[in-house]
Amino acid sequence: METTTTLFMGFDRRKFISRTARGIFAATLAPEIARFAAAAEPAGSPAPTPTSAAQGEPLPQDQRVGFALVGLGRLTQGQLLPAFRVSKRAKLTGLVSGDPAKAQKLAQENGVNAESIYDYKNFDRIRDNQDVQVVYVVLPNSMHAEFTERSARAGKHVICEKPMEVGSMKCQQMIDACKKARVKLMIAYRIQYEPMNRAMQRIVRQKVFGPVKYIESDNGQRVEKMEWRLSKALSGSGAVGDVGIYCINTIRFLLGEEPMEVFARTFRPPGDPRFKEVDATIIWQMRFPSGVLANCMCSFDTYDTKSYRAVAEHGSFGMDPSFPYHGLKMFAKPEQLPLPQVAESDQFANELDHMADCVINSRHPYTPGEEGLQDQRIIEAIFESARTTRAVTLPRFDKLDPFRGPPPE
Ligand code: NAD
Repeated sequence: METTTTLFMGFDRRKFISRTARGIFAATLAPEIARFAAAAEPAGSPAPTPTSAAQGEPLPQDQRVGFALVGLGRLTQGQLLPAFRVSKRAKLTGLVSGDPAKAQKLAQENGVNAESIYDYKNFDRIRDNQDVQVVYVVLPNSMHAEFTERSARAGKHVICEKPMEVGSMKCQQMIDACKKARVKLMIAYRIQYEPMNRAMQRIVRQKVFGPVKYIESDNGQRVEKMEWRLSKALSGSGAVGDVGIYCINTIRFLLGEEPMEVFARTFRPPGDPRFKEVDATIIWQMRFPSGVLANCMCSFDTYDTKSYRAVAEHGSFGMDPSFPYHGLKMFAKPEQLPLPQVAESDQFANELDHMADCVINSRHPYTPGEEGLQDQRIIEAIFESARTTRAVTLPRFDKLDPFRGPPPE
C-alpha cells in the first residue's frame, strides 16, 4: 500500500493551498482527506517547460534505446518527433514510410541516417539494423497487426498506437507473435503515464474521498473531412476505438477493475456522408464488480469535450480536460480540498521513456498487449449491445489490474 509520501511523489509540493486553509480542512474533513491535506506544502514556483516525467537524469545518447517510427502522419509529426527531443531514455534511429520524399526530409530534420529509412515493402530489412531496438507502429488501426508481427519477426520490441487493432482476434495474434519472438509489446496508452491522471488514480485507489460510486466520461470532437477514421475497414470501430477508448481505458485504469456488463446505444445522422460506415455518437454504461457504475459518451460529431468526473462518498473529483495533449486540469469538490498542482509533462516522452526503461531493465510494460486486447473486447461488447439493445456480460475479474505490468517509476 502507498504511503502519504508516495501519494505525493512527482507533485510540486510548494504549489499546494496555503497552510491555514489546510489546517481548517484537515480539522473538519474525513480522516482520509485530512491525511491528504496534511502532506501539502505552501509557496509557488514558475511552471517548467514540459519534459518527460520519468525519474532520473537523461541518459547519454549512446546508452539510449533506439526507436523506429512506422507511419509519418499527424501524430508522428506533431507529437512523437518532438517527444524524442525531451525524452530521457529514447532516441530516434529509424523511419518507415510509403512516401520517400517525406521520409528523407524528416530524417534530415531529426538526425536519422539515410540507411535507416525503410518503406512498407523493404521494412523487414530492419532486422539487420542494430541501432533500432523498438518499432513504434503509428499507422491506421487495420495495419497495426501486420507491422507488429513483422517487427516481432525481425526481433524488435513493439510499441503500438491505440486502438490495438480492429478486432480481438488480431489483438491476440499480435500478443502471440511477440511472445513467440520473445519481444515486448506495449500499447501506447499515454494517459496511464501522465502524472495528473496518475494522481487521480491514487485518489481513487486510496479512497481519499471515500469509495467511488459513479464515474462519467466523455470524449467528443468533430471529424469534418473524409479520412481513414471514417472507414469501417481501416478504423474498425470509428469514434469508439479512436476517442471513446480513452473513457474505457482511463476508467479501468483509475479503478483497476474490469467491467462485467456493458449497455450501449449509437446514432448515425441519416444522409451524412461522413457516417455511412461508422457511428457519429455512442453512449454506453459499464458496471464494475465493486458496484461502481459508469456513464460514457464519445462522438465524431460534437464540440470538443474530453473529461471525466468520479463521484465518491465524500466528494467528487476528476479532470476537465482530461485527454488532450496539453492543458490538463484537475478539479475536486468540496472546492477547498487541497488538490496537488502537478507539472505538465510531455505525455509522449513519458511513454517512450517507459518503453525504453522496460527494454533497459527487462521489465514488462505497464500497458502490455493484453491491456489493448481487453479494451477491444469491451469495444466489441459495446457494438453487440447497441445491435441487440441488450446488456452484454463480460468475463468477471476479481483481481485488480489483471492485465497491467509493474507501474512506471
Ligand atoms: P494519420 O492519418 O495522420 O497518419 C497515418 C499515416 O499512415 C500517414 O502517414 C499515411 O500516409 C500512412 N498510411 C499508410 N497506409 C495508409 C492507408 N491505407 N490509409 C491511410 N493512411 C495510410 O493518422 P494519425 O492521426 O497519425 O493516427 C495514426 C495512429 O495513431 C492511429 O492508430 C491512431 O488511432 C493513433 N493516434 C493516437 C493518438 C494518441 O493520442 N495516442 C492520437 C492520434 C492518433
